[in-house]
Amino acid sequence: MPRKTYVVCTKCKRVLSRRELIFRDNRNICPFCGNDKFTTSFSNIILIIDPKESNIAKSIKKNKRGLFALTVEA
Ligand SMILES: [Zn+2]
Repeated sequence: MPRKTYVVCTKCKRVLSRRELIFRDNRNICPFCGNDKFTTSFSNIILIIDPKESNIAKSIKKNKRGLFALTVEA
């Protein structure tokens, strides 16, 4: 996964491609939580497909499907 193409929202920890970000008022916004801070330093990416059955989802308090980074350096 090329790092420059993907960023992680520092709030909801979702892994997003730059094209998914909403550009508003001269800044990029996370389409899921509205946060405007992102980092390209991340690791330990997990994909949550079935949050109700996933112990990992519970342990990181995620109840939505998606791709998340467990380790994020702001
Ligand atoms: Zn977010």
